[in-house]
Amino acid sequence: MSGFEPVALVKCDTYKEDDIRKALDESLSLCDGLSFVKPGMKVAIKVNLVSAMDPEKAATTHPALLKRLCELLTDRGAQVILGDSPGGLFTPVFVGNVYRACGLNDLVREGVSLNQNYSVKSGEFPEAVSLKSFNYTGWLDDADVIINFSKLKTHAMMGMSCAVKNMFGTIPGTTKPEYHMRFPEEKAFANVMVDLNEFFKPVLYVVDAIDGMEGNGPTAGEKRHIGCILASKRPYALDMVCAGLIGMGISDVQTLLVAKERGLGPENVSEVEILGNLTLSDAKIPDFKRATIHQSITFEGDGILNKIKALGVKVAFNTKPLVKPSECIGCKKCFETCPAKAITMVSAANKTGKSGQIPQIDRSKCIKCFCCQEFCPVGAMKVHYNPIGKLVNVISGN
Ligand code: SF4
Ligand code: SF4
Repeated sequence: MSGFEPVALVKCDTYKEDDIRKALDESLSLCDGLSFVKPGMKVAIKVNLVSAMDPEKAATTHPALLKRLCELLTDRGAQVILGDSPGGLFTPVFVGNVYRACGLNDLVREGVSLNQNYSVKSGEFPEAVSLKSFNYTGWLDDADVIINFSKLKTHAMMGMSCAVKNMFGTIPGTTKPEYHMRFPEEKAFANVMVDLNEFFKPVLYVVDAIDGMEGNGPTAGEKRHIGCILASKRPYALDMVCAGLIGMGISDVQTLLVAKERGLGPENVSEVEILGNLTLSDAKIPDFKRATIHQSITFEGDGILNKIKALGVKVAFNTKPLVKPSECIGCKKCFETCPAKAITMVSAANKTGKSGQIPQIDRSKCIKCFCCQEFCPVGAMKVHYNPIGKLVNVISGN
């Protein structure tokens, strides 16, 4: 049908063992997902463990799905290593805490381990558009192949976090802000994500879209039931289907746009062959709340009219991070994470009382990477729209 790998889309409404067994097995079989596995092979599963959060918050890949995938792999004789580099230190203590909070400790058994290799390696990728040289988490070199198991969520900077964006976790946690500084423009940053997928070339991509995250994603949004599992051998058509599920398209997700420009991904979901017991229109959640629509409409081309439209959209949907003092606990995570050093902590009443601290943002330094929003543990850093954007959000149901 098209030059893109087909995408399996299978209904699954719960994380109960029987439901997962049926739906995950079917989605993998539809896309011939495990044919690469050979006895003795080492398989790394790159999970989304963005932060130390309970799986019920729907910010991280659910352990019940990982458990079943591990069973399928070890039944075929593979050795499995699960891992990720969340925001923060890439150290045994810090990541160990994330494993525990995200429910991964219970998955360890013969043939299944959690990554304990905290080395950092240097990579060279001359074919890259953005990321020609970079540092990455060395544990991925311990494996023969990589499986990317992501979570479907909104994302303040990229629009959506799913298969393509999940590979940013191959960059050590404390190094991630540096890459935001190196590539502050959204398109260049989206090319970083695509470069990482092309460098590591996972053999299989699976998406946990049973419960996703809407609103202030990827960590401070609300859980939203979507009810499916998706799988494919490549990430771009897969992410296009995931975007379609939550009411987005190529103009809403920069990684889809740059993948299309690089000849790697489709322009429209109609170009993608979808396999399974669900159609996109059956599964779609049209009122899925977005994190932001600040880059949600792009006008490609050089025409003067397009330039005027693009400028109008930029002004209307201009967004910025803004702290809500009544929710801030003064933990300084935003201050420590900010790659542009745009945050200072100042004395002010916050959730902990009158003599607390809150972050103050120097707007002239802020590059709008939204790392502060992503890593705020209590969701106190919000995405703020200007009044016109806010009005359009209300009108459009966002
Ligand atoms: S203040 Fe927030 S959005 Fe601005 S540069 Fe710092 S982390 Fe990024
Ligand atoms: S805004 Fe969030 S991350 Fe920053 S100090 Fe307050 S609670 Fe901590």
